[in-house]
Amino acid sequence: MGEKTAVSFISPGSMDSHKVLVLNQSFEPLNICSARRAVVLLIAGKAERVEDSPRIIYSPSVALIIPSVIRLHRYIHWPGAHIVAFTKKNILKRDGFMCQYCGRNGEERMTIDHVIPRSLGGKTIWENVVSACLPCNLKKGNKTLTEAGMRLLRKPTRPISIFYLSILAHSSHFSLAWSKYIPRGMGLSPPSGSISH
Ligand SMILES: [Zn+2]
Repeated sequence: MGEKTAVSFISPGSMDSHKVLVLNQSFEPLNICSARRAVVLLIAGKAERVEDSPRIIYSPSVALIIPSVIRLHRYIHWPGAHIVAFTKKNILKRDGFMCQYCGRNGEERMTIDHVIPRSLGGKTIWENVVSACLPCNLKKGNKTLTEAGMRLLRKPTRPISIFYLSILAHSSHFSLAWSKYIPRGMGLSPPSGSISH
């Protein structure tokens, strides 16, 4: 329980919306699963609790602290370096479905913006495309960041593995407890003002 966050009670029905970081037996980050799946792994004796979240499942028959991080008892061989397909969906996942200019969230209305516009020779590559909401995309138009007077929330990079992509897609669930187990180097950090488990 590293974080000083107020304890909250949740119903068993909302367990799927809470995410848990799964570590390999070697303590390397492996996956992200729902709180429900994590509790099943704990009860089955296949994993152990590493960090608790400040959330407690509460019903007349059960009161259980939801983990934030669990560790598998068995080592899973994981190649970890799959090439991530360059698709709109994966760009949105990388950016946590968040407009990289204003921070607005939402999968459906998000567009892809070229940081250096194509008309100025900007390429369609991981390092030059970001998720942008429609108003920001229109505001930026065919201008550079300086010309548009806009800034990026974070520098776009190529996701190094499917795992990192899934971490980034769940960045709204990112917690300080997770960050202890995730290597630096992907610009990964808890989104400011929205740290949660
Ligand atoms: Zn925006």
